[in-house]
Amino acid sequence: IIQIEKLNKWYGQFHALTDIDLTVAAGERIVICGPSGSGKSTLIRCINGLESIRDGRIVVDGIVLGADGRGVDAVRQEVGMVFQQFNLFPHMTVLRNCMLAPMRSRGLKADQAEALAMEYLSRVRIAEQAHKYPSQLSGGQQQRVAIARALCMTPKVMLFDEPTSALDPEMVKEVLDTMIGLARDGMTMLCVTHEMGFARSVADRVIFMADGRIVEQAPPDQFFENPSHEKTRSFLGQIL
Ligand code: ATP
Ligand code: MG
Repeated sequence: IIQIEKLNKWYGQFHALTDIDLTVAAGERIVICGPSGSGKSTLIRCINGLESIRDGRIVVDGIVLGADGRGVDAVRQEVGMVFQQFNLFPHMTVLRNCMLAPMRSRGLKADQAEALAMEYLSRVRIAEQAHKYPSQLSGGQQQRVAIARALCMTPKVMLFDEPTSALDPEMVKEVLDTMIGLARDGMTMLCVTHEMGFARSVADRVIFMADGRIVEQAPPDQFFENPSHEKTRSFLGQIL
């Protein structure tokens, strides 16, 4: 469902991604890890058109993302994204946060959007908070709302960029459990995370990035038990 070929990304003179090749099958669950500054967020952001690309090719569900910004709107309809900071609209209720994109980009009527939003809010077990404002919720609850909001666009792919790293430890599990549920339902997922328990139990493939490159990728058993690259070993040594 995603094909990336020879992707290179520069920020000015800085070469943030070098020759990234990556193919993701529908239903595949991928965990991306690597040191700070290795380009994980940049890669994820390129996939839903948040970063322009100058060199290389990204195709998502048949939509080509071009250097000229072509395809960006279409791809964002298909790809949901969840950030470290939940990025909910603070002046809107939880329900309104979830209704906005389906009404604006899918043309749903308010009652249809509300029904859809309530369905996904139930699914992340937060329907009873629908009329609260984001500031009235815990971090874990806000992040589950952010997941529900993304799901309301019925995306074909979900991208997560360190969704639990801004949370207090006791809230990490509820968000990971929500993500595990999504994975079980067959969602195609790319997750930047250092939650290695999640990677072991959920990922089909773990990708390790360093210095803007994909250094190693393997199924979790192999990745954790027998990493082939020295940089992977030293990274795992630091975080495990
Ligand atoms: P972290 O684990 O800290 O989130 P990361 O792997 O997500 O790191 P990126 O955010 O993708 O790393 O950044 C990769 C590199 O690109 C870093 O060196 C960063 O400083 C640089 N970079 C990221 N965004 C920009 C930007 N908008 N302008 C210039 N440089 C940037
Ligand atoms: Mg990042």
